[in-house]
Amino acid sequence: MRVYNFAAGPSALPLEVLEKARDEFLDFNGTGMSVTEISHRDKAYMQVVAEAENSVRELLKVPEDYCVIFVQGGASTQFAAVPLNLMKNGVADYIVTGNFAKKAWQEGKLYGTANKIGDSSDKIYTYIPDVDKLNYTDGADYVHITSNNTIFGSRFDKFPDCKAPLVADMSSEIFSREIDVKKFGVIYAGAQKNLAPAGVTIVIAKRELIQEPLNICPTMLRWKVQDENGSLYNTPPAFSIYMANLVLNNLKNKGGIKAIQQINEYKSGLLYDFIDGSKLYKNGVEKKFRSIMNVPFVTGSEELDAKFVAEAKKAGLVSLKGHRLVGGMRASIYNAMPVDGVKALIEFMKKFELENA
Ligand SMILES: *Cc1c(COP(=O)(O)O)cnc(C)c1O
Repeated sequence: MRVYNFAAGPSALPLEVLEKARDEFLDFNGTGMSVTEISHRDKAYMQVVAEAENSVRELLKVPEDYCVIFVQGGASTQFAAVPLNLMKNGVADYIVTGNFAKKAWQEGKLYGTANKIGDSSDKIYTYIPDVDKLNYTDGADYVHITSNNTIFGSRFDKFPDCKAPLVADMSSEIFSREIDVKKFGVIYAGAQKNLAPAGVTIVIAKRELIQEPLNICPTMLRWKVQDENGSLYNTPPAFSIYMANLVLNNLKNKGGIKAIQQINEYKSGLLYDFIDGSKLYKNGVEKKFRSIMNVPFVTGSEELDAKFVAEAKKAGLVSLKGHRLVGGMRASIYNAMPVDGVKALIEFMKKFELENA
């Protein structure tokens, strides 16, 4: 039996996508081979990569002068790729609004001066510093943000208007809300939250920014090289890109980003409204910065939290345990989580509150 899976990543994928992948697993597109067996230079496979790229361009309205590439190593490898491709002047700004943002900043420091110009750790990352009041460094190569904080459940409600190119880690929210790609120099995202199985990372970068990587930048991390080779410089994570392509097609059929954003706002609204109205549950993120993807909450008692997670699991609501840095619970309600899943969670929360008040 399928359960409602609230995992933060790897996370749920649309059921229709899993079924399609199952149905054509042994014979991909009339080739008589599985997509996991076929050469990445085979026309049938190269078509998949091209289609996935085009879908990203269509869904996010990516301008012509930006590349869209699929790479390996997860978002964490991009923490290094960002400075290695962009740090020509040896200096960059970082806004540290969560654990992954902090890791990106620490990685940046390995390659140059990485200034932490904003930091919300004083209130356990439950807010985003006012981006209009930060001291951006003159001549910085870029400003790095993590647009949605997967662990702490906060997100940027507006993006910095900085002179330097804006670089955003959108791992846990890409394709969940409309964004203006032109505002960004680079967007990157590990796929396993909202796009595909683990193994592929998407990078969208303005081409004029990526022409002079640092000399020490490994060939594999050079976005320019990946772009010039259509993401096929070496063997790509073939199955994950294939799955991403199915998910993107599925999203287009559901009406694209605008439609899914409405659903995501509705789903998260139901959950936050219920939490705010209850006596037992609490979400500590400042309201205007609340994520529509990751919703952490606590009962105030570690014992009760553990009981909640265990009983929810028995009721078919799984992976609700919060990150070890925060404790409590976290419901990750990515694009693939149906409205019915969120409603089932709320019904369970009501019942649990009655029984444990
Ligand atoms: C999950 C996550 C990462 C880490 O991704 P990996 O693919 O495991 O390296 C980085 N940033 C954000 C915002 C994430 O949610």
